[in-house]
Amino acid sequence: MELVFATGNSHKLQEAQLILGSRIPELTLLPHDGSEPIESGSSFLENALIKARAAFEATKKPAFADDSGISVEIMGGAPGIFSAIWSGTRSDKTNRELLLAQLKDIPQEHRQAAFVCTIALVEEDSETSFTGIWPGQIALSSTGDGGFGYDPVFIPEGFEVSAAELEPEVKSSFSHRALAMQQLADFLKQR
Ligand code: IMP
Repeated sequence: MELVFATGNSHKLQEAQLILGSRIPELTLLPHDGSEPIESGSSFLENALIKARAAFEATKKPAFADDSGISVEIMGGAPGIFSAIWSGTRSDKTNRELLLAQLKDIPQEHRQAAFVCTIALVEEDSETSFTGIWPGQIALSSTGDGGFGYDPVFIPEGFEVSAAELEPEVKSSFSHRALAMQQLADFLKQR
């Protein structure tokens, strides 16, 4: 089975290979640059659909895309769909630093957050979506050098360390993207 993954992000591709590959051994994942269409939607779902539809149109093969980000409760769900460009740049470090600065006077008990990932799957005659949520808290400072994006400032629920300090295999079994991809894998396996 061939499935196009509309992404230009090598971390996401690695996670997808780990999660989907272990559940569907006959699956060949074909990466397709997902950065071409403008993410002009107003929700994770709309943005994921824009990228997946573009990949399907370009390749004429079943295609999926994800849109993800971090939502901080006390910030009304921001950065949300703007996570990748929160500081006005695409620098993960600058984005993290801005978030920590914005939360600098907020005590640990009010720093609840969640990573959210919505996957859209576009096929010839159907569109389907799956959402995974990984709850946790924003740390007081950055720690760890694994992962990407906001991992160094996110302490997942049930852990005492940041997501950037987790082994990739551990992150790949708990993360928002893992949860959404497990749903995608279950959906694909059913037929
Ligand atoms: P997307 O590529 O449009 O989905 O943007 C996702 C942005 O959200 C990334 O640039 C990161 O800043 C953040 N993000 C999404 N997933 C993760 C994750 O697993 N770890 C850390 N940051 C993430």
